Amino acid sequence: MKAARLFNYGEKLQVSDIDVPSSINSGDVIIRTAAAGVCRTDIHIIDGLMKESMNFPSLPYTLGHENVGFVEEINGDVQGIKEGDPVILHPQNSCGFCRACRSGMDMLCDNGFSPGLDGSDGGFAEYIRTGSRSLVKLKQSTDLVGAAPLADAGVTVYHALNKVMHTIPPEGNIAVIGAGGLGQIAVQVLKCLTECNIIAVDADERKIRNAERLGVTETIHSAGRDFSGELLRLTENIGADVIFDFVGDFETPQSSIKGLRRGGIYSIIGYGGALNVPTVKLVGSEISVMGNLVGSYNDLDDIVKLYEKGKIRLNVERFRIEEINDALEKLKSGLIDGRGVVVF
Ligand SMILES: [Zn+2]
Ligand SMILES: [Zn+2]
Repeated sequence: MKAARLFNYGEKLQVSDIDVPSSINSGDVIIRTAAAGVCRTDIHIIDGLMKESMNFPSLPYTLGHENVGFVEEINGDVQGIKEGDPVILHPQNSCGFCRACRSGMDMLCDNGFSPGLDGSDGGFAEYIRTGSRSLVKLKQSTDLVGAAPLADAGVTVYHALNKVMHTIPPEGNIAVIGAGGLGQIAVQVLKCLTECNIIAVDADERKIRNAERLGVTETIHSAGRDFSGELLRLTENIGADVIFDFVGDFETPQSSIKGLRRGGIYSIIGYGGALNVPTVKLVGSEISVMGNLVGSYNDLDDIVKLYEKGKIRLNVERFRIEEINDALEKLKSGLIDGRGVVVF
């Protein structure tokens, strides 16, 4: 089968012909891939930035961690799925027995594996091996190509939002920093969950227009500058109750801290920059800073249900597996409006 694999850090992926994976453990499933989202994390992996956090995977391996497909083969007595079922794959297959799994935080499981991330072969290939615990069943009528980015982008957004929504009053103010793929999903989920004011911040005029179309209350064209003054002005000098930062780079961490209300939450999803805050500010304003890593199995299930109800739509640009490096290059250059998806 064809698979797009990383042979050396800093080099393009190579589309090679490799064996179809076979199951190793009881509970393993083989999925015939329908589509796989192309993610900024793929670029970070190729650039070697994730080596340490992924525990130094051995090369080569197949990337692709936003996967949807059909159950091809099931190893062992697995309840709830059968061959031919359309499914979306949570990026982490988990053990089910450790403390993290027992508390529903499968993404923090120490005994699992993550296809396309940690050295296990992923979904830029015609077939993938994963575990049955990671599968969320989709309806027969679900558009699989549009669903693929939910496996990471969508579940991460839902997780970040779900954690803090109970802290925001109905007349509160939420800022969404970065109105690209993840920001677009965030605005749509927020519209389902709350009546709060939603303020979208982006440096790109086109993405601002997109956010307006999705029904945000206000927008700020940040143009790479400190946007805290504008955020304060739009919130009657109170500041935002919660800021979701899908950029986490450049000026966004500092501006976010300055644009938060007292007792507010700065929730970080995008990464790459640094946060430098005097501790007296955190204490004096009782500000919380929160990181977000993927999301739980139930978070994925929840966002899939919203998608299947037609509440979440994401622009998708389709690529063939042979075009994977073009897709990555376009993503790097900011030329993909929404999400690139490899379609089989
Ligand atoms: Zn991803
Ligand atoms: Zn576990």
